[in-house]
Amino acid sequence: MILANRMKNLYEESYDLLEMMKQVDMEGMINFSGGFPSQESYPISELSRAMVSVLDKNAKAALSYGTTIGIKKLREQVAERMNNKFGLNKSSSNIMLLSGSQQGLDLSGLMFINPGDVVVFELPSYLGALNAMKPYEARLIGVHTNDEGMNLEELEQVLKAYGDRVKVIYVNPDYQNPTGRCWSEDRKKAFMDLVSAYDVAVLEDGAYAELSYTSEREKPLMYYDKKGQVVYLGTFSKILCPGIRMGWICASEEMIKQYLVLKTSVDLSGATILQMMLSEYLDNEHIDEHVAEIVKIYGLRRDAMIEAIEKYFPESVDYIYPKGGIFVWATLPKPMNARDILLRAMDNGVIFMPGESFYPSREDVRSMRLNFTNMSEKDIERGIKILGEIIKSAM
Ligand code: PMP
Repeated sequence: MILANRMKNLYEESYDLLEMMKQVDMEGMINFSGGFPSQESYPISELSRAMVSVLDKNAKAALSYGTTIGIKKLREQVAERMNNKFGLNKSSSNIMLLSGSQQGLDLSGLMFINPGDVVVFELPSYLGALNAMKPYEARLIGVHTNDEGMNLEELEQVLKAYGDRVKVIYVNPDYQNPTGRCWSEDRKKAFMDLVSAYDVAVLEDGAYAELSYTSEREKPLMYYDKKGQVVYLGTFSKILCPGIRMGWICASEEMIKQYLVLKTSVDLSGATILQMMLSEYLDNEHIDEHVAEIVKIYGLRRDAMIEAIEKYFPESVDYIYPKGGIFVWATLPKPMNARDILLRAMDNGVIFMPGESFYPSREDVRSMRLNFTNMSEKDIERGIKILGEIIKSAM
């Protein structure tokens, strides 16, 4: 069979990573590589109660096709949560349910990108978002980001240089994957001021927005959006569990109508039974208490990782202290290469993601993305100690 050209490129680009990820499930491996929540935190009995109740009360509807946009009750609940958390004023007609927020990334590629159109993104950025844009033959243009947020001079140059070929700016402003960074409020406002002068969609990925280890509550870019330019992607994967594949798009009603046209042909509808189970869970259980509990556990694991880095890594390794999210981003001194460290770490039972994977041009070969939510504090210390010894011996 002759596959489309895009398959060749996609396969070649991800081949080494796919090979590497085969190691991930190996027994006893200390795994800092994934972006997963902790499995012990899943609210199993609460979800099971919700599922039994749905099947008892409403089995026929639950086992049927649903509407493409998703069940109204859950869309209302999602809108209400967004309004409460982020000071927004959205209703169920601004929400479309997705099979994970990843589906929203794919649908956005389908919605906005003609071959050669530009998607602007943060450097570094979430690999899965860039991969979602590649099949649509997007031209990916990165803009550097620092602890305040995206570099706006650089962004303006890109917007001017590429004009109306720029269709989407993809950003993950709160506790970003992979760096854990959070944009400042001033940078968010200035970003929205700048982009509002351009006819471009802002795809705001809020996957980690609720995982904050301080008492501060961040406002999303959507809060500062005056003209319906922001398409917000949310997910229950990081605050509840990824296995139910429940995410959503929050956008203007006009945009939701356009997304609906696409989603109908992609999957007809999401899984009705899971939407009903989640809605029941949100009605009868206490999701905010659950989030508070996992934030407490993750906060301790973040502290354990930072303490271990301070203790075992040489001082010349830089790192970003994350105020939220699930990653620490650490950068080795020149002329070291994180992939060399990774190969040796894997032989010693530790795995992480090399930073180059988050740059399409692979320009940063010295960084490492270290996940801290999926391992016990003891294993975090053990793994960081092993990494520290390898780094020191490679210097
Ligand atoms: N956005 C970001 C930044 C992510 O890290 C992930 C998953 N790792 C996703 C979106 C997709 O998550 P899901 O499809 O489970 O909602």
